[in-house]
Amino acid sequence: MLYRELGNTGKKVSVIGLGCEYLDGKPYEQVKETVDCAMENGVNILDLFMPGTEVRTNIARAIGDRREQIMIQGHFCSTNINKKYDISRDPAIAKRYFEELLNLFGYIDFGMLFFIDSDSAFRAVFETGLADYLVNLKAKGKVHHIGFSCHHPEIGMRVIETGMPDMMMFSINPAFDMLPSSEASMDYIDKNFGAEMFRGIDQSRAALYRLCEQRGVGITVMKSLGGGKLISAEHTPFAKPMTVAQCIHYALSRPAVASALVGCKTADEVRHALQYLSMSDEERDYTDILQTVRNDFRGHCVYCNHCQPCPVDIDIAAVNKYLDIALLNPDTVDPSVQSHYLTLAHKGSECLSCGSCESRCPFGVPVIENMAKAAAMFEN
Ligand code: SF4
Ligand code: SF4
Repeated sequence: MLYRELGNTGKKVSVIGLGCEYLDGKPYEQVKETVDCAMENGVNILDLFMPGTEVRTNIARAIGDRREQIMIQGHFCSTNINKKYDISRDPAIAKRYFEELLNLFGYIDFGMLFFIDSDSAFRAVFETGLADYLVNLKAKGKVHHIGFSCHHPEIGMRVIETGMPDMMMFSINPAFDMLPSSEASMDYIDKNFGAEMFRGIDQSRAALYRLCEQRGVGITVMKSLGGGKLISAEHTPFAKPMTVAQCIHYALSRPAVASALVGCKTADEVRHALQYLSMSDEERDYTDILQTVRNDFRGHCVYCNHCQPCPVDIDIAAVNKYLDIALLNPDTVDPSVQSHYLTLAHKGSECLSCGSCESRCPFGVPVIENMAKAAAMFEN
């Protein structure tokens, strides 16, 4: 297993985590087998947004005395008052559901403000004192970090600007990333992902990921497989289905992303997702998928590493990523972004201008120019 720092939380999470949604309604034995397979292979983070007592209890029982070995995203305001998956911003109701999580698991590693996707959700959580519940639990050590779940880039940025969250769970896959941010991605998951509107990576989403990296807000990823539709020949919006590994790799190559939480309902599905770890760069490469759609944003790096190898071993995607983040505030160099850049083994100033990367880049990124810009910005 590979582990990554989750923003500034000080926690290292497995790059593949377990999304537990599909364990809902499954018998205990199946839940146990799936959780065991994940944990025995080094998965140390799982998402538990589901409000049902049975699935929560099954997962707690499956984890048993291994509680310290796994980090749990538990969601505040996730309820099942009117339907199986519901949202309540009523303080008494929301607290009752969250207290059940605390009773079952003792503490919650990442207390997640659930489904902040709209202005009304933002106001209901941040302008009524509701979010203070998690702040107080964090002060008492019952919640270790505050996070939120979101599908909307502009709202995500607003939440981050409050300074409250340490991390965010966001829906990331190439189809969602190409949908204009004016559209609600979840509304299009059953409508061919709105493929007729794809215009390259949406700049609001790209800006959100960069903001997270800049602020040290780590991202865990939901919907990396687009609810399974991106890997389906019948439902993919692209010329061909993606593989699970391509979906995971796409998510993991966005700035600030630490873990892709893959929804699995069996041990076999966990093992299938974990095959990513032993695959070659060629098997993970997703660029052929992105090239099948219209791209109005040519020249923007998608951090895919297709341009490698570089004769002086510059991590071109990483240099481009730090440059993109720095360009959010071009007049000042963010010290944390600069220090990340300076830890790179080879820097933009080492570029030989050989151009081999540019000939391999499918997206027309001016790499040589970018290396020079990064050197000027970070190395002086
Ligand atoms: S420069 Fe091009 S090939 Fe290299 S990481 Fe960026 S988008 Fe991918
Ligand atoms: S142009 Fe620079 S960054 Fe690109 S492969 Fe050559 S040396 Fe590496």
